[in-house]
Order: sequence, then C-alpha cells, then structure tokens
Amino acid sequence: MTMQEKNYWLETVEAPRIPVGELPANVDVAVVGAGFTGLSAARTLEKGGAKVAVLEAENVGWGASCRNGGMVLSGLKLGTPALVARYGRDATKKMYAASLESIDCVEAIVREENIDCDFSRCGHLEVACKPKHFEDFRRGAETIEREFNHKLRIVEKNDLPREIGSPIYHGGIVDEISAGLNPARYVAGLGCAAGKAGAEIYEQMRVTGLERGAQNGISGWKVTTSRGTLQARDVLVATSGYTSGITKSLQKKIIPIGSFIIVTEVLPETLAHELSPRNRMIYDSKNYLYYYRLTPDHRMLFGGRAAFFPENENTVRESARILRDGMIEVYPQLRATKVEFVWGGTLDFAFDIMPHAGKMDGMYFSLGYAGHGVAMATLLGKKISESILTGRDENPFAGIPFPGAPLGMYNGTPWFLPFAGVWYKFLDLVS
Ligand SMILES: Cc1cc2nc3c(=O)[nH]c(=O)nc-3n(C[C@H](O)[C@H](O)[C@H](O)COP(=O)(O)OP(=O)(O)OC[C@H]3O[C@@H](n4cnc5c(N)ncnc54)[C@H](O)[C@@H]3O)c2cc1C
Repeated sequence: MTMQEKNYWLETVEAPRIPVGELPANVDVAVVGAGFTGLSAARTLEKGGAKVAVLEAENVGWGASCRNGGMVLSGLKLGTPALVARYGRDATKKMYAASLESIDCVEAIVREENIDCDFSRCGHLEVACKPKHFEDFRRGAETIEREFNHKLRIVEKNDLPREIGSPIYHGGIVDEISAGLNPARYVAGLGCAAGKAGAEIYEQMRVTGLERGAQNGISGWKVTTSRGTLQARDVLVATSGYTSGITKSLQKKIIPIGSFIIVTEVLPETLAHELSPRNRMIYDSKNYLYYYRLTPDHRMLFGGRAAFFPENENTVRESARILRDGMIEVYPQLRATKVEFVWGGTLDFAFDIMPHAGKMDGMYFSLGYAGHGVAMATLLGKKISESILTGRDENPFAGIPFPGAPLGMYNGTPWFLPFAGVWYKFLDLVS
C-alpha cells in the first residue's frame, strides 16, 4: 500500500487566522509552544492579569495537539498499583483525582469558550489481550473503587459484543467518564480562547535562545527568536515531544517517541455500529498498544506505536502498512475497507513515564504526558500558570522526582529506540 501522509483532523477545521504582529519588547510570560499546554496556560495567565506572548515555531496546534486520537482519558499511563508502589497511597490519590479533574477541565473550557469540537462523554474501553490482563483489570477496578472512590465497569468476555465487534479479546474495562473530541478543532478553539483573553500568539516564530538577563533591575529572560528578541519575566516551556537543545536539561529527560494513525473511508452506519456499538474510545492492554475509535463521520481511526522513531516519510509509510494489518487483526470486517489517511506525531515520555510540571533552571515547564496528554496537558497548562501567578505549586506532579537516563546515557538523541521497540515487543510476548 502506498499512501500519502495526510491528517484527517486537519480536513475538518479551518486554521485560526492569527495576524502576524511585531514582537513586544517585554512580557510577563513567554510561552514556548502553542499546543494544549501552552494555549491552556496562556488563557489562564491572561485571565489572571499577566501579559503573555505565545511563541510557536510552526502553527497553532502543529505538534502532537492536532495529530492525536482525540481520546480524553481518565487515569495515567502507569497503572495504579505501580503508582502506589512508587509514590504511596496519598500521593497516588491526588494524581488519580487530577486525571479525573483533567476531563472536567477540558469540558469546562469547551463549554465556556463554545468550542465546536464534538466533545462527548462517550467513555473509554480498555480491552484485555490476554486472560492475565483481564485479571489485572479486575484487581485494578477493585483498588480504584476502594482507594479512590471511582467506579469502573468490568466487562466479561461474553458481554464484550455489546462494547466491541471484535472476537480477539478476553474481556474489558469501561470508564464512563472519559470523553472524545476532535483535537484539531479543540486546539484551534483553545488558540482563539487564549487570544480572546488577551494573549499574543506568534506563529512561525521559533525560539532559538533563552538566556537569563535582568532588565531595569527586574530579573528575567532574554528570549531570542527567529524574528527578534523579547524580555520576559518568566518562561514556560510547553514543547512536549518536540523539546530541543534550547532547553538542554529538559531535552535530556524526555524521550521523543513516534505514534501513528490511519483513518479509513466513511463506513456504512450498520458496520460502524457493529465495530463500536457504544462509540467508545478504545485501547488494548499491550505495551506496544493499539488505540482506536470511530470519528464523528463514522470512519475507523486506528493508531499505535507502529514505529518507535518519530514521524518522517519512512516511518509514516511503514506505519500505514503495520497499522492496517493490526486493524484487520482486530476487525476482520475491515479487510476490504480503504485507508484514506495516515500521519504520525511525537509523544513525550519521561524516563519514569510520568507527567512533570514545575520549575527547572529557573524556567517553568509542563510535559511528559506519555500519550495521555489531551486532558492532562490542558489541566497542567492551567495549573502551572496558576503557580506562575501565585508562586504556589498545587499540582500533584510538581514535587515528584524527575529522573534522567540511568548513568546519564542520554543527551537528547534517542539512540536506544530500536532496542526499546524490541524490548516492549518481548514484554508483550511474556507478560
Ligand atoms: C499520534 C498521536 C496520538 C495521540 N493520541 C492521544 C490521545 O488519543 N489521547 C491523549 O490524551 N493523548 C494523545 N496523544 C498525546 C497528546 O497529543 C499530547 O500529549 C499533547 O498534544 C501534548 O500537548 P503539548 O501542548 O504539550 O505539546 P504539542 O502539541 O506537541 O506542542 C508543542 C509545540 O511546541 C512547538 N515548539 C517546539 N520547539 C519550539 C521552539 N524552539 N520554539 C517555538 N515553538 C516550539 C512545536 O512546534 C509544537 O507545536 C497522542 C499523540 C500523538 C503524537
């Protein structure tokens, strides 16, 4: 199959018209990156009275924010037993609560700002690839209900046809509070909301240097861009998987990992209903996982970490083939269905697979969403700007350790990705 790279979501949205303005001499906060994190932060900062410039190397939403599956999910990438073992019960409780709050946060913004992005509380379904994974679901659901007072629904294998038209899984778990949306429309709407609040957004404006420098006795940052410089009291780095050498300390802690998506032609309504009768956001229990959903116009959107390297012509082409095979394995009914779109984007994994939002080298940052960023980036963008405004850190991820690579074996070039890919495939075989 040869397939041109094309992002389905971008076909459904008009890019926000952002006037090309001159950079101001001074701002309170320079935000680097105009995705969910940067735009959610800019909106909150402006509402709190700060003057903000959002500096984006490409266009609003160009990064992962317009390339994702649009799944607004509860929970974190790491399961609760791992979180409790690592951080203890109380800290985990706060983190889990933040994951639930993040969905409410997206919903509130969508409503307040009237963002037309097909937001719907359709729930998510995680499907078990092995009987053991289903047993883990059962134990996880018990823990979450007991410890965090949040109810998930276990779906026995026999009941699965009510949730999914695939014969290959061993059971599932549903969280009704998760949601779905159109990410390109959502990020465009967030951009408009930040602009309406007063933030100045500068597209095609790559930040090329960040240097500490006082001006008129006030400490701050000299921010150099591809089109001039400005002085900012504070800097917020919101560059996620596209973090580069201008913030070297952060770059060394974030592994950029490719994730890829295919989208089929429009399906007949009865077939779409058979594949996903409750229109859930679905993902499976593997490390090398597949995630999939119907689009509002009834196409199958099917994604996965088909290649570990970030998007380029080769990884996108190769991923189209791998994902189509994967889709047919899950849904043999789609054997003759045409794939019309394929694209890729870059995820941001920290070495501990946790989100991190705080201050490093005097700069604020929020990243490490590990494929769970639609809701969490929106929430942490808001929370980190509240700490910039108030000086208080009130997000549960601010105080946790932020580890780098073992033995310092990573300088920002992820030489180990091919090995990581093989390792995760091996884990999927044995666990
Ligand atoms: C294929 C794919 C599928 C995904 N599916 C889901 C999903 O279904 N659900 C979910 O919750 N999460 C998902 N994610 C993850 C989610 O999309 C991200 O976590 C989220 O978009 C991160 O938002 P962000 O604003 O932090 O970063 P981004 O949206 O990546 O934005 C970072 C921006 O920084 C800019 N930038 C970088 N360097 C500079 C510089 N020097 N100067 C100026 N600008 C710069 C980039 O141009 C970019 O626009 C997926 C990701 C991918 C790639």
